[in-house]
Amino acid sequence: MARMPDADWKPISINHTVGGQVEVRGVVIHIMAGTLAGTDSWFRNPAAQASSHFGTGKQGALVQWVDTKDRSWTQALGNRSWISIENEGKGGDELTDAQLDANARVLAWAHTEHGVPLQLADDPTGYGLGHHSMGGIPWGNHPHCPGPRIIIQKSEILRRARAIVNGSPATVAGPTPWPGRMLRYTTGKPLMYGQDVRVWQAALIRAGYGSVVIDGSFGPHTRTATRAFQRAAGLVDDGIVGPLTWHAGTR
Ligand SMILES: [Zn+2]
Repeated sequence: MARMPDADWKPISINHTVGGQVEVRGVVIHIMAGTLAGTDSWFRNPAAQASSHFGTGKQGALVQWVDTKDRSWTQALGNRSWISIENEGKGGDELTDAQLDANARVLAWAHTEHGVPLQLADDPTGYGLGHHSMGGIPWGNHPHCPGPRIIIQKSEILRRARAIVNGSPATVAGPTPWPGRMLRYTTGKPLMYGQDVRVWQAALIRAGYGSVVIDGSFGPHTRTATRAFQRAAGLVDDGIVGPLTWHAGTR
């Protein structure tokens, strides 16, 4: 048996091949195009003919449906030698910060349990952290799974998995370099969006502003929390994250 201790074990009795895993080359990232709950019930439907070893929810839930000694039915020809993770969300999404952590924990566990090397895989001949579309037609031809934004996030998942394996909690942030742009909310303009916003939102939560959502979008709620943070830190409470505010929050 190969079950990940900190995943929520929710075995499915159908839609997988018992003992079918011939080797484990790595971990393959997917996007559900749906919810964790919906995917859970779909994998229990005989009509699905589909399953995954692991699944994540946007808030960080991590479930294991299939033992990694068994073969899940996720990426056609790739099933026999890869562990799969389905992530809640729709095509074009980024993974949430909590999902990045969950994926990193699976990769770190796969490294310890199955010897998966902590590196990126970009095609089916590789080893490490892969993604569905890299398998092309033999893997079922899913060119949009998990999508370009999540493929970019693979390096962050890898970084966190290495931190876990090296024994340093990945969620403890050291001094984080100033991202080089002022983060702010401006009425009537598109929301600023990106990994730097996500890092800042995580800093707000660590500072006690727990109602902030780490969604990478700098909206009015993030501005309100930023102002409160600035007041508490003795800074000008303009709601704009410049270098002083950034370093006060992320150090
Ligand atoms: Zn997929």
